[in-house]
Amino acid sequence: MSRVTPWTVWLVLALSSSAAADTIVLKNGRRIVAENVTEDATHVTYQTPAGQLSIPKSIVARIEHDSLTYSSASRAAAEAPVTAPQIEPVRGYEEVAGLAVHDNTVDFAYLARLESDARSGSATSVAKFAAAQHAAAQFLLAKGDTEAAIDHYRQALVFAPQNTGLLLNLAVLYLHQSQFTTALDPLERARRVAPDSADVAKLMGWAYYGANKMDKAIEEWRRAERLRPDPEVEQALDKAARDKAEEESYREGETAHFALKYYGGATPDLARGILRALEDDFRDLESQLDYTPPEQISVILYTQQAFADITRAPSWAGAINDGRLRIPVQGITTVTPDLARVLKHELTHSFVGQKSHLRAPTWLQEGIAQWMEGRRSTSVAGALVDAAGQGMAPRLDSLEGSWTGFSGNSATFAYAWALAVVESIIDQGGVSDISRLLDRIATSTSTEAATKELLHSNYDDLDQQAVAYLKHAYLR
Ligand SMILES: [Zn+2]
Repeated sequence: MSRVTPWTVWLVLALSSSAAADTIVLKNGRRIVAENVTEDATHVTYQTPAGQLSIPKSIVARIEHDSLTYSSASRAAAEAPVTAPQIEPVRGYEEVAGLAVHDNTVDFAYLARLESDARSGSATSVAKFAAAQHAAAQFLLAKGDTEAAIDHYRQALVFAPQNTGLLLNLAVLYLHQSQFTTALDPLERARRVAPDSADVAKLMGWAYYGANKMDKAIEEWRRAERLRPDPEVEQALDKAARDKAEEESYREGETAHFALKYYGGATPDLARGILRALEDDFRDLESQLDYTPPEQISVILYTQQAFADITRAPSWAGAINDGRLRIPVQGITTVTPDLARVLKHELTHSFVGQKSHLRAPTWLQEGIAQWMEGRRSTSVAGALVDAAGQGMAPRLDSLEGSWTGFSGNSATFAYAWALAVVESIIDQGGVSDISRLLDRIATSTSTEAATKELLHSNYDDLDQQAVAYLKHAYLR
């Protein structure tokens, strides 16, 4: 979920005439931004770069049609494999909560005062600060602003790094955003403080389950059951065991750089075709980005049946890159041009992620992946330049983190802007600038620091450079 920024408003006006982008929200919390979403009694069907795809209605929580709908976290919690425990990080400071949030707003001046008290390090002032940040986070969460809520927990943890309540609440927010690997960090810290917490084990199981690590999910949920029997965890364990059996029925293929898994429903011909295409893409990316991923990359082909059983979504539509390429191939028997683009796009994410030590921001990831798949700004240049002229272009720093919570419109615009910026960088200095930028990001304090050092441009400069480039390249 993102903060509502002015350009999201512009998008409704400017892009509503083009293909409507809707968001399909799955019961596991994952979001699929897609075009031409339709539904019948049993299935939801949508358009993808790999052709039309159908998923069973049973795994869909809801469809957000082309509007700025923000779901509340509590609703998502009911749809997760297990629910989140309710944990107050600090008790006995109810009056602090009332002072931190009043008149339907967060009192930032009050928070700042508590923060400077907390710097003194006294246990009471730290507890007060934690209670106030928790109150602010919960208030913002109720308003649908998960990103801001996350910020408040992280600020509180600076002073109270061992507060398991804060750590668990932060983990739950990441889980709601499908940031499963990120959620493991606060959970591991909480485990060090409270090794016998059933809540930690329950949430760890959820994180591993979301990351498709079934063995570890089962291990954590069994541990949770031993610590405190819970019918909900028991159900989740049954489900995870089924998923694991499903995965074990996958067939496998292997080449020098890829380990492929696919369900019996995909044909061996298609699997071989995909591996061939990926090996070609690998060589191309290796020379363009001057980088060779050190380990075999895993690829999983999904069919509709697998979607139904595993309730996972394709990741090509969004910024989700969990280290494996997950490709939906339902109804496809050969590597079509559209599927070829999806493969190149997804493989690019692996290269960019690894070369930058997983530090490339989302705008750069998606910009490079789109450029490598062959997409260009031709059809959107006019709309982007208009938006920038009205001061409604997004700022790159708002596009650094996860986009999984963006509405369909915001995501469409974010992708378009990211591509325009990357195109303009390549126009100025060639793909080698992108390659060197990724190396620099791996060691710099921030991406903007890296762009300043290497390209002598800060984010404002890059935004302006993109507008100038779009005008020059497409609108003369
Ligand atoms: Zn992508």
